[in-house]
Amino acid sequence: MRKHIVAGNWKMNKTFDEADELVNDIMAKLEEVTLDANTTMILCPPFPYLEMVSDYGDDSYFMVGAQNVSDQESGAYTGEVSAAMLESMELDYCIVGHSERRAYYHETDEIVVRKVDQLLKHGLRPIVCCGEVLEEREAEKQYEVVKRQITDGLFHLSAEQFADVVIAYEPVWAIGTGKTATPEQAQEMHAFIRGLIAEKYGNEVAEETSILYGGSCKPSNAKELFANKDVDGGLIGGASLKAEDFIGIATAF
Ligand code: PEP
Repeated sequence: MRKHIVAGNWKMNKTFDEADELVNDIMAKLEEVTLDANTTMILCPPFPYLEMVSDYGDDSYFMVGAQNVSDQESGAYTGEVSAAMLESMELDYCIVGHSERRAYYHETDEIVVRKVDQLLKHGLRPIVCCGEVLEEREAEKQYEVVKRQITDGLFHLSAEQFADVVIAYEPVWAIGTGKTATPEQAQEMHAFIRGLIAEKYGNEVAEETSILYGGSCKPSNAKELFANKDVDGGLIGGASLKAEDFIGIATAF
């Protein structure tokens, strides 16, 4: 049975003390609830807080991921953080190709390829984001766009490498807007993505791949989104900044 994953992308939010408080709150709330045994919770704080968050819990509480990684191995790349550095901190996951990085930092599918390769080389699992902008959905181009992102960003991998990839479908028009995809829209796209994976790598790999939904997911809509057969959890932005909301989503399976 493939993993359910709920990953919190804190983006560029919280001071150190606020981040510390949030992890404390999450840990306290985790004492009060029972997560489904098949659910993995991942926290993706900003780089400077990775160690603090990692020090909080062992993997039985949550795993820790970065929000970005360099596409280069090492060297004169001021301000960048390499996959080798993340590996040396024993991190588990890293987000790649988020629409904010694609839009504001020109992260192309070619860069996504290099980042994914770096992460896999260093034993981290990439959470690779894909999704169409509003104009593309309005022009009914969402399948074409997502197919290109998945094919160009990931299909150079071997089946063995692909087994470590998590995909997040995040329609850009739903990110941070309060406008969520309907459960039907999410299920249709997730099934389409799983179909692409099956064509390329076979059914077994496709059935094992966790495909997360992202875009204004909250405790009030998580249940109906996660009830769909091809929706294996969520990549959560805004709602991951409040322990109660995040735990509400993580327990929605
Ligand atoms: C995200 O940025 O990955 C995201 C899903 O954000 P939000 O939940 O705030 O829409």
